[in-house]
Amino acid sequence: QAVQQPDFEQKTQNPGVNRTLAALKFDEYQAYRAAGGYALAAALVNGEEDAERVLAEVEAAGLRGLGGAGFPVVRKWRIVRAQPAPRCFAVNIDEGEPGTFKDRHFLLADPHRFLEGVLIAAQVVGTERVVLYLRDEYPELRARLQTALAALEADPPCPLPEIELRRGAGAYICGEESAMLESIEGKRGEPRLRPPYIAEVGLFGRPTLEHNAETVFWLRELIERGGAAFAAGGRHGSQGWRSYSVSGRVRLPGVKRAPAGITLRELIDEYCGGMAEGHTLYAFLPGGASGGIFPASLADVPLDFGRFEPHGGFIGSAAVVVLSQHDRARDAALNAMRFFAAESCGQCTPCRVGTAKAAALMAAPVWDAATLQDLALVMADASICGLGQAAPNPLRCVLRYFPHEVGLAAEPPPEAFP
Ligand code: SF4
Repeated sequence: QAVQQPDFEQKTQNPGVNRTLAALKFDEYQAYRAAGGYALAAALVNGEEDAERVLAEVEAAGLRGLGGAGFPVVRKWRIVRAQPAPRCFAVNIDEGEPGTFKDRHFLLADPHRFLEGVLIAAQVVGTERVVLYLRDEYPELRARLQTALAALEADPPCPLPEIELRRGAGAYICGEESAMLESIEGKRGEPRLRPPYIAEVGLFGRPTLEHNAETVFWLRELIERGGAAFAAGGRHGSQGWRSYSVSGRVRLPGVKRAPAGITLRELIDEYCGGMAEGHTLYAFLPGGASGGIFPASLADVPLDFGRFEPHGGFIGSAAVVVLSQHDRARDAALNAMRFFAAESCGQCTPCRVGTAKAAALMAAPVWDAATLQDLALVMADASICGLGQAAPNPLRCVLRYFPHEVGLAAEPPPEAFP
């Protein structure tokens, strides 16, 4: 089936993804500006564009945070704007969720579009200091952003806020917003207890705006074309567009810019060229390691915020991992739990001890369901942050949808495989 390429999809076609560092020259900045780039940001800074209009467009678009939490962007902006200056802005490019690679994709493709989005958000909210927190496993992206920043600062289109590019140190937990701020401040990357929220007391004690990199990447496009045009995308009751990082047993894995709310079946058929040869859909992870594992019978659930929660998971940053009859959900769940055990910051007992204990129990051929359910409940209810709270999702999904894999049923449950 031929797929019409919507406008909000076209940025993924940018050949810049494959450019070598040698090609990253100053002229890319000039080319971006010649095509109208930074005009919106400069107009905002120079007072020729109304911040209220920008807020209205972003609100009309229904843009939500694309790092995983899905918090409405404009609501966050209004909260931070209402706080006393000076305010800070931290941009999360840590992208550590297993299976997620969309931020790297977009920022490599078009770093100036990202930086313009940063300037737009910084101006609307009124932040004086910006820190870009970059995953250290992305050295090519670091070079690309350094080049883009140098070009921007050498010939700025308008007065710029202070912008600092900071290298993370490879800890998954530093993708959690308050742990990221701790890391930027030079401390161990441990999540903070809330309240106070970082919008009130954030980086160095200042009110702080925090965004995932992809969230700001789309701002220029969205404001120029109008929020309604963005919101017009979407399927099955969802609005807008999402970037799905698709991996696993499909013919064409990669970042797929598709309507929000598309189902897994549609995503595979229309955007991924179908399943890989010799593979049939058996199970899938809609949201990386933490979003749960689901059977093929749920492949018609829309992939969007709020849709997988009733089934025991979530879409998060839309890292879709497709498994076939050659895979086992229990292997994926064990892998995820070992990952969480390794990445737990160790600050709270339910997560530090719970993930390690669960990983040990899940290695058994027959699972001790009662003990694992107990552990899952304590982790979900008593952990400080999202890592420990979401860590039991894959394990709970295996108990619910794949008990035959862990010696707890002879056959798959009928609701899982109709
Ligand atoms: Fe650290 Fe885990 Fe507690 Fe989060 S839930 S604060 S990662 S120990």
